[in-house]
Amino acid sequence: MTIASIGTPPLSVSDYIFRKIVTEMEDGIIALDEQGIIRYCNPSIEGLFLHAPERLIGRPLEVILPPRYRKNHHHHLSDFASGPTDARYMGSRSSFIVGYRADGTEVNLGATILRMRTENGMIFVAVLRDLTERHGYQHELERLANTDPLSGLNNRRAFTNLAAPEIARCRDIHAPVSIVLFDVDHFKAINDQYGHDVGDTVICEFADVLKSVTQADDLLARWGGEEFILLMPETGLVRSGAIAEMVRRSIQVLEFGQPNGLRLHLTLSAGVICSNDADETLDNMIRRSDHALYAAKEGGRNRVTLAGPREALAALA
Ligand code: GH3
Ligand code: MG
Ligand code: MG
Repeated sequence: MTIASIGTPPLSVSDYIFRKIVTEMEDGIIALDEQGIIRYCNPSIEGLFLHAPERLIGRPLEVILPPRYRKNHHHHLSDFASGPTDARYMGSRSSFIVGYRADGTEVNLGATILRMRTENGMIFVAVLRDLTERHGYQHELERLANTDPLSGLNNRRAFTNLAAPEIARCRDIHAPVSIVLFDVDHFKAINDQYGHDVGDTVICEFADVLKSVTQADDLLARWGGEEFILLMPETGLVRSGAIAEMVRRSIQVLEFGQPNGLRLHLTLSAGVICSNDADETLDNMIRRSDHALYAAKEGGRNRVTLAGPREALAALA
């Protein structure tokens, strides 16, 4: 084979050079015969699988696959053997190979798999790369994109993404969904009087109180500023209203800002809605909770206002 570049004569790449590349490269290379028996490994394979390469030669590929994937592995290999392409790449977020190490741990691998015909039959060559670090970065980026850095709660983006499937699940089982919007009363005065840092502390402490009332399926998020949103699946207005009222009462008796040497008293207002309507969008539910919150503020603050389906409100009266 020759490698050409403009303006310089082509370089002839000898077997020696190819062997050197394969031996020295950081990616693992493994070759299998048609029966799925390992026929060649480069030295980097040891870093991926913790098996000495010479101990893998002659053994079936299954030894480096997790037990749960071993049964179906032959189907994948024969599909690829008879398929239309000579090369397949797997290395995205959702499509990768899971390798099984000698110590029983697993490793996510990106793979380029090649199919080659030789005089001794078909050979499959996999070039393998450890994706652990890349997946770690991707996971961390996703976490950062979905988390409010101050309170550690879901941010608005995460809430909107997570709420949609939860609401759909409730619709499927004809269960109600409730949403509560909480907003600290006169919070601006805390910032103005004690400074932004104290305001931040109060937001975190307020978030901790809300966390303590949420249950496994509830979805809590910082909606913005000192406003928080709580979605309660399979929950009617009586229960969500009672929870919001319990939070209101707790906030009223708690002291905030203690890490800064203060003992501040807060009140909150909350707007609670419940939806049974299969056609109601999340946007509309949030709009209704916002109106209910506004009504609580207009009504004098330090109160919970409920807005639900008319029949639910009638039952509460
Ligand atoms: P109301 O009873 O009507 O809710 O009065 P309020 O003062 O709480 O209302 P408003 O929503 O006008 O004020 C919220 C303030 O929250 C304004 C903004 O400066 C402050 N704020 C928003 N985000 C943060 C934050 O991350 N940290 C701090 N310390 N303050 C914030
Ligand atoms: Mg406020
Ligand atoms: Mg506000």
